[in-house]
Amino acid sequence: MLIGGAAREAAILGFHITPLFSYYAYHGPIFRVMVQLHNGKQDGISNYGFICHCKSCGQSRTFGFDELGQITCGCADKIDPDSITVVGPLWTGPLHDTTFLTEMLSLATEWGWANTIENGVSLEKLLDTMIEESDSRLPPGYIRLDEIASRAKVNSPPLGTLINSLRKEGYAACRSHIGANAIKTNCPIECCLDVAQEIRNLR
Ligand SMILES: [Zn+2]
Repeated sequence: MLIGGAAREAAILGFHITPLFSYYAYHGPIFRVMVQLHNGKQDGISNYGFICHCKSCGQSRTFGFDELGQITCGCADKIDPDSITVVGPLWTGPLHDTTFLTEMLSLATEWGWANTIENGVSLEKLLDTMIEESDSRLPPGYIRLDEIASRAKVNSPPLGTLINSLRKEGYAACRSHIGANAIKTNCPIECCLDVAQEIRNLR
């Protein structure tokens, strides 16, 4: 919402933005973002749109302004349209810039800041997570582990195991710096549930 507001204001003035990094601190809670302002309008795809979440199957999707009338879920034929929640308009593009974060991490290491610990997480680990989150294949948002567990009717799989299994299946997956018990992945929820069940069967 914050980045979306900045993107909208920039567009009105004839500029466009790219977020360099976005940091969420749950105590507060506070959301900080550093953006780079560029001259001229953005060409190509718009990163300002809507995110819909289907309560019935758990899948989230991103829609642009031109698709507003067509918001549905793949499972919609079986359920009532009230199960879909739409939020927006908001920023649906990347939250970080990989190159910028990588430079931040190398400077932090050089300056001896990398092992600084805040809220139980070292700066190095936080930046590593944010670098993983900056993978352009990943959608905005995250999936909570307990949602996967309850839909798959299994105990919560270990976070690292689930991420590795999803990567083995060819999907992008990583931890989320926003939620300790959540993952970011481009794997459809249905497939996540299969993977979670497979992990249960292996244990
Ligand atoms: Zn659905």
